[in-house]
Amino acid sequence: MIKVAAFALLLVPVLPVPHLAQQPREQDVITTSAGDLKITFVGHGTLMFTFNDRVVHVDPVMREADYSKMPKAHVILVTHQHGDHLDPEAIKALTTDDTTLLLSQRCAEVVEGGLVMENRQTEVVHGLTIEAVAAYNLVHMRQGGLPFHPKGEGNGYVITFGDTRVYVAGDTENTPEMKSLEGIDIAFLPMNLPYTMTPEMVADAAKGFRPRILYPYHYGNSDTSALVKLLEGEEGIEIRIRDMS
Ligand code: ZN
Ligand code: ZN
Repeated sequence: MIKVAAFALLLVPVLPVPHLAQQPREQDVITTSAGDLKITFVGHGTLMFTFNDRVVHVDPVMREADYSKMPKAHVILVTHQHGDHLDPEAIKALTTDDTTLLLSQRCAEVVEGGLVMENRQTEVVHGLTIEAVAAYNLVHMRQGGLPFHPKGEGNGYVITFGDTRVYVAGDTENTPEMKSLEGIDIAFLPMNLPYTMTPEMVADAAKGFRPRILYPYHYGNSDTSALVKLLEGEEGIEIRIRDMS
């Protein structure tokens, strides 16, 4: 009887709780040549990087956090115009006179005041080099044959912090552009279906450009353990699973 009672108690913390109530969020700290890089795992496709005194938000959306309570942005990166990535209200809440907003053309049609980044374009803002990488579907299509993410519309971003290059892929598949990236230390690759990659596609991409640390993110209900299994024994690629469903 005691065992049963203890088990019942253990169940309490895993009852569903609203995402906004999950404070504090998971964070990892990465040592770079120019100071610590703190990664905050906000949720789904949304991240925050803190590097010395600078704050970089990626795809801030109110459905993942109350951005009126988050640190103001030096840089905001928006990958594409879908609602789980672009949220004008979150952008407004983070923006000061000192904020630079980098986004795609489709996003700029919704939010004013940003700098449009085309695929392959590079900008230096607040001392950080930021490169836009094409993000698009190769095989996963909507009914009628239109890709969920047509080529040329969306960006992934490579952000360089000191000597550490961080790639946030956005919504994409294992494109040739991704697989030919060089010198990526940390990669965030999306893994929910049908919009982005299967675990097999993520593993294929990772074997192509070989990030030192791989975080699957934007993974929805996909089984992250399938990815771990696919990359078992792969020297030099460390997979880290964080709460980014
Ligand atoms: Zn999308
Ligand atoms: Zn998405």
